[in-house]
Amino acid sequence: MARIPKVDRVLEAATLAPLRLRRELVRRVVNDVLDELRARIREDAAAEVPDADQVAAQARARLDDWLEPRPRPVVNATGVVLHTNLGRAPLARGAIEAMAAAAGACDLEVDLQSGRRSSRFDHLRPLLAALVGAEDAHVVNNNAAALLLSCTALAGEGGVALSRGQMVEIGDGFRVATMAAAGGCPVWAVGSTNRTHLRDYEAALDGTLPQMHGRPAQVLLWAHLSNFTQEGFVHEVELRQLAELAKRRGVPLVADLGSGSLGTGLPDREPTITEYLQQGVDLVLCSGDKLLGGPQAGILAGSAELVQRCRRYPMARALRPDKTAIAALHATLSLHASEAAPSIPLVDMVGRSVESLRDRAQAITTALGWSERAVREVSATIGGGSLPGDVMPSIAVVVPTEHPDRTARALRLGDPAVVGRIQDDELILDLRTVDPDADDALVAVLRRL
Ligand SMILES: *Cc1c(COP(=O)(O)O)cnc(C)c1O
Repeated sequence: MARIPKVDRVLEAATLAPLRLRRELVRRVVNDVLDELRARIREDAAAEVPDADQVAAQARARLDDWLEPRPRPVVNATGVVLHTNLGRAPLARGAIEAMAAAAGACDLEVDLQSGRRSSRFDHLRPLLAALVGAEDAHVVNNNAAALLLSCTALAGEGGVALSRGQMVEIGDGFRVATMAAAGGCPVWAVGSTNRTHLRDYEAALDGTLPQMHGRPAQVLLWAHLSNFTQEGFVHEVELRQLAELAKRRGVPLVADLGSGSLGTGLPDREPTITEYLQQGVDLVLCSGDKLLGGPQAGILAGSAELVQRCRRYPMARALRPDKTAIAALHATLSLHASEAAPSIPLVDMVGRSVESLRDRAQAITTALGWSERAVREVSATIGGGSLPGDVMPSIAVVVPTEHPDRTARALRLGDPAVVGRIQDDELILDLRTVDPDADDALVAVLRRL
């Protein structure tokens, strides 16, 4: 312990002394490194004790690492189009430019005509509501926030009724029922895991479920089964029937659609926001960065009265999106307004033909001098809580390696970082999710490997 270098000696070392960084920051890192060293020595008295220069080098490496631009861009070669851990929907160029343009001073909450104060939502409301066919729409930070806000604002103490068959867990432990209840509104589980009937919802609206003590649920909640399917002896009430029940009993039907498709250029097996509204849903909730192909955002679309109640609820302020998200969402919606399949990366990836992917794979393997066998037919998925179990034919390049895990790591740490997927003990790079502009960089990275 006595041989551990003093903090001030470390700070004077050649790797740290000339650094033009806040001294408190550098000191903090040096202290962290020294604390870790002490802990190591307490565990193992024979542990080697580095000198001041070595400690300084460790601290410097940590600081350099912290100050690298983050998050780092990666090449998504996983074949999962909407990969939540890789930032979900890649934004369209127009959306990226709109974000940058809004990053400075912008007319976020001022009407340039009159000079008077306006609302940040005015930029989105008319276009968004018209595109999805809703009376009105509101935008929050993400879909979890949309769920939290709508259930809290609309259901109050009575709570929401949700089928046990729709108590979805999305990922990273996020559960629809938990988020719906997070603002304090009760969530009443109705039906059973595999079968829920109209009479189960009716009981919730009568307040006759166990523990309800006669207090009826105020909202019917529907959750789209984003990431799984049920088979066998199963029954869910149809959305349309549930909408009729809601009308008859004078309560709102809120539907968490998750994916938020506008239809254009995407497989039509996934319900769209408009279809949900047409089936009688009063308020549809969805993400901005799933099938909409935009930035992280949560959209509430439906009846003017319900949207208004959500917008005016105090919690709405805590969940509002920032100016760059509004700009990116507006730009993405503008692209969706075009009659052709919009020039959105997500739509582009889904629409790529297998032949075009095969051509690219062959060009890549030829450039690397790899055999034809490195070009492989595989299955890609949309992911991100849409089209569960649905796969798209795709083409991958199989990286020849004895150690797929180690090679995958080397690729992740490459420049650019490439994230592939390991399947049947092979490292594959699925080209459906790779921007063709990145093919040359991919070849360069693989050549260096
Ligand atoms: C993805 C998803 C959510 C969460 O959306 P975020 O925008 O990630 O908050 C909620 N509900 C459903 C059904 C989803 O698919």
